[in-house]
Amino acid sequence: MKYGIDIGHNAPPDTGARGIRFEDEMTMAVGTRVINKLRSLGHTVVSCLPRSASSVTNSLWQRCNVANLNRVDVFVSIHFNAFNRTVNGTEVFAASETGEKIAAPVLREIVALGFNNRGVKNGAHLYVIRNTSSPAILVECCFCDSKRDMDLFDPEKMANAIVKGLTGQVPKPEPPPAVVRPSAEVLELQRTLNRLRIPDRNGQRLAEDGFAGSATTSATQRLQAILGLVTDGVAGDRTWINVRQILAKPILRPNQTSGPAVRYVQYRVGVDIDGIYGPGTLAAVQRFQSQNKLTVDGIIGPQVWAALIG
Ligand SMILES: [Zn+2]
Repeated sequence: MKYGIDIGHNAPPDTGARGIRFEDEMTMAVGTRVINKLRSLGHTVVSCLPRSASSVTNSLWQRCNVANLNRVDVFVSIHFNAFNRTVNGTEVFAASETGEKIAAPVLREIVALGFNNRGVKNGAHLYVIRNTSSPAILVECCFCDSKRDMDLFDPEKMANAIVKGLTGQVPKPEPPPAVVRPSAEVLELQRTLNRLRIPDRNGQRLAEDGFAGSATTSATQRLQAILGLVTDGVAGDRTWINVRQILAKPILRPNQTSGPAVRYVQYRVGVDIDGIYGPGTLAAVQRFQSQNKLTVDGIIGPQVWAALIG
């Protein structure tokens, strides 16, 4: 089925009623869910909410126009009522026999949530029902100025009721949103990358917050490139084994050593990274020692390591 779902109002000057809660906020909460749930059940959905409107009539015209151009099978407009803070309950408008047959189960499902049944009503006077080519209903979910209704209202349950009423299908429960917590492993990685002075792709130090993200990934890739590893941005065992060899601050003598610690030193003193402590690296290390007022002997020992990584 192809549904035209019309999230009521939300297009100033077409704004909804203000009761205990705002109609705009609730039609958005319910309508967005209805759209997602129908799609996850395999239906085609056209959202009829305009981006902007020059007047209320223009807003209503655009909604009908989108539905008509897309030749939807059923048009469903979602609204909330307001009256005198006492009246409460649910009513669904329709203007044809087919419309009434669509309206009745929607009303039944919403009433099953505990709202008072105000019935299926004649909606022939309503612009969006009058001007849509398909069968159309307008759901007044409940009253936004009624404490009873607002205490009962839950956008998820309301959306489920509308979808079940429309399709006869029970919407799949939404997976709970993943709770993102800082990770001790990511925090250790960020601290290590900062200590090794390996910035992200924008040349920035990483935030030490424990949250994995593109900055940490890009710095990890840079580290992996320095170490000659696969640059997948994921700090796995191989990456950590190499890092620990650097953090162990091994004594490196020219022409005698190779490996990840040499590669790291080459990155820091700014020579080509090949992992072999040869003459080019020696000259750069001696320059580094001189600049840092250390003994210029080309041996990377505790003093040089302290200058490099603290
Ligand atoms: Zn309304």
